[in-house]
Amino acid sequence: PAMTVEQAHDHLAALFPPEDYGPAHLNLIRLGREVCHARKPDCPRCPLRDLCPYPAQSNEIE
Ligand code: SF4
Repeated sequence: PAMTVEQAHDHLAALFPPEDYGPAHLNLIRLGREVCHARKPDCPRCPLRDLCPYPAQSNEIE
């Protein structure tokens, strides 16, 4: 893919305004633990799928 998961993380982080970043960051940490695994992100069941630039560029969607 043109964008790695790590770059997608940075991209998503940039979407949140600074005042929301703290709570958003906690949720992103949780997302990373439960859904967005670096090796194999579970994009089909991810709540951020519409926001995230990764799935459209990935062929791993089943
Ligand atoms: S859509 Fe996929 S790559 Fe994007 S945040 Fe969700 S699990 Fe991660």
